Amino acid sequence: MTSNSERGAAARAFRTRAVHAGHSPDPTTGAHVTPIYATSTFAYGSAERGQRLFAGEESGYFYSRLTNPTVRAFEEKLADLEGTEDAVAFASGMGAVSAIALTLLKPGDEVVFLAPLYGGTEGFLLEVAHKFGVTVHEALDETDLEAKVSARTRLVWLETPTNPRLGILDLARVACAAQGVGALTVVDNTFSTPYLTRPAEHGIDLVMHSATKYLGGHGDAIGGIVAGSAELLGELRGLGLRHVGASLGPFEAYLFLRGMKTLPLRMDAHCAGAQALAEALKGHPAVEAVYYPGLSDHPGHEVARRQMRAFGGLVSLDLGTSEAAMSFLNSLKLFTQAVSLGDVESLTCHPASTTHALLGEETLLRQGVTPGLVRLSVGIEEPGDLVEDVLSALEKVRIKQPG
Ligand SMILES: *Cc1c(COP(=O)(O)O)cnc(C)c1O
Repeated sequence: MTSNSERGAAARAFRTRAVHAGHSPDPTTGAHVTPIYATSTFAYGSAERGQRLFAGEESGYFYSRLTNPTVRAFEEKLADLEGTEDAVAFASGMGAVSAIALTLLKPGDEVVFLAPLYGGTEGFLLEVAHKFGVTVHEALDETDLEAKVSARTRLVWLETPTNPRLGILDLARVACAAQGVGALTVVDNTFSTPYLTRPAEHGIDLVMHSATKYLGGHGDAIGGIVAGSAELLGELRGLGLRHVGASLGPFEAYLFLRGMKTLPLRMDAHCAGAQALAEALKGHPAVEAVYYPGLSDHPGHEVARRQMRAFGGLVSLDLGTSEAAMSFLNSLKLFTQAVSLGDVESLTCHPASTTHALLGEETLLRQGVTPGLVRLSVGIEEPGDLVEDVLSALEKVRIKQPG
């Protein structure tokens, strides 16, 4: 048998690393849990040390916009779980998106994104990056991407599973297409989390999260984080964090550190609940379609099996009309109608009238955001209770709209 020290930290199981990575007793007090370092600035100790810190000759904390010990522990934990050299935290998922784009893009560059992306990300690329002379192209699938990348492509941006129809994209194939033209890849891994998918293992350069969702897991904090190589993250920290300034506060970092210790336990429960719901919804007379990559007839099922540990906590269903969708939503008891996802409590929303309402009708249809589509973010409640709640809400829809 090999001892723990011989095996090395990287060989330990995910559940062990979720608890231990980035976690060590506080060096000054021995506090077992990482303290909240509520301080904007740090004393140099001497004029000479201040000079060395600013010259980069000595590493250390000196201002919390750049780095703070509580935030640093969160970055170390996430980098360990994603299997990357480093990570940099931001004040929100959108703070991470804007820092990546503003750090890596310059006028004349092109971005190809795989549609659909999170609405805010797509908005940033089309409305903000565009103003700085960046051309943005939309690709509909891997084949379309392969046709649209060129020597001018600087970034390829994607999510898998996609929102809200839970389409699956082949990470290795996308990484290969981007590498072929010398472009960098960014994967928004918010829906999968590193427990289910580690994009860096498939050749992806930058992995970002809205930590607001599953990493925090309790719906009580907003934050973002990006993982990748030390070289790329050095640039991101120096430009996108230092000069753009969407820095994460230590209170939120503490909540993310605490949440991530139970990430694998929560994800197992989310995935089990989502699989049970998807199976219960499939073939139900009031349901026109169910979208869940864990169903064997989902078009991305085989790719999902290859690149995911399990199939995630989101399930979408199509009830045919907006009226049926709204009646269903208003009849649910255990699902709170609210935007966001990834909380321990089940949440639900009607994308066409809320999160995706600003998109034109043509875009909505192209992205499959139909009037009857409902998205469920399955919490960690007992799957049987969630299935019962959903089936009884569907029964009300069916009584209202016979045939
Ligand atoms: C929520 C979300 C974002 C934006 O994150 P914020 O923390 O709300 O800024 C980005 N990408 C995905 C996939 C999201 O779900």
